[in-house]
Amino acid sequence: MPRVGASESERRREPGLRKLRWQQAADLIASNTLGSVTVSSTKEIGAGKILIRGWTKRCPVCGESKIFRGYFELVEECPRCGFRFERQEGQFIGAIGVNTVVTFFTMTLVMVLGLVFTAPEFNVVLIMTSSIAVAGLLPLVFFPFSKTVWAAIDLLLIPLEPGEAPLRTRG
Ligand SMILES: [Zn+2]
Repeated sequence: MPRVGASESERRREPGLRKLRWQQAADLIASNTLGSVTVSSTKEIGAGKILIRGWTKRCPVCGESKIFRGYFELVEECPRCGFRFERQEGQFIGAIGVNTVVTFFTMTLVMVLGLVFTAPEFNVVLIMTSSIAVAGLLPLVFFPFSKTVWAAIDLLLIPLEPGEAPLRTRG
C-alpha cells in the first residue's frame, strides 16, 4: 500500500520540521548558556534590572528611556546601544499577551477591591463602571509598556547575541 505510506510521510513532514526548528532554537539557547560572550553580557545586566527597565518603558539592554516617538511608537533601534527591538518577525505578539494579562489582572483587582470596599451593599454600578473603564483605557495606556516589558522578557529568554547591541558600552 504505497499510497498510505506516502500520505503518512507527508503528514509527518510538518511536525518533523517544527521539531527540527525547536531543536535548533534549543541548541542556540544552550550554546548561548554555555559560556559565550553573549550570555555573560545579559547576565551581567541582571534579570531584575532588565525587568525593571521593561516596566519603566526603557531599553532592556542599556536603560535608555528615549525610545518612543510620541506615546505609542517604539523606535526600531535603541539610539544609545543600537539594540533592535524587533528581534524577529512577529516579535510583539508577546506584547499583546502581556497587555491582555495585565488588563485582566487589573480588572479582577478592581472588582475585588470594589466588592470589599462597598460591602455589604455592593455598589454594582460603581464596580461595573470602573471595570469597564479599566478594560477600555488600560490597554491603551499600557500599550508602550507592554512592548518594553515583552522586550525584557524576550531578552531573558533569548540572551543577547553578538552584535545585537553594537553601540553598547556599559550596563
Ligand atoms: Zn539600549
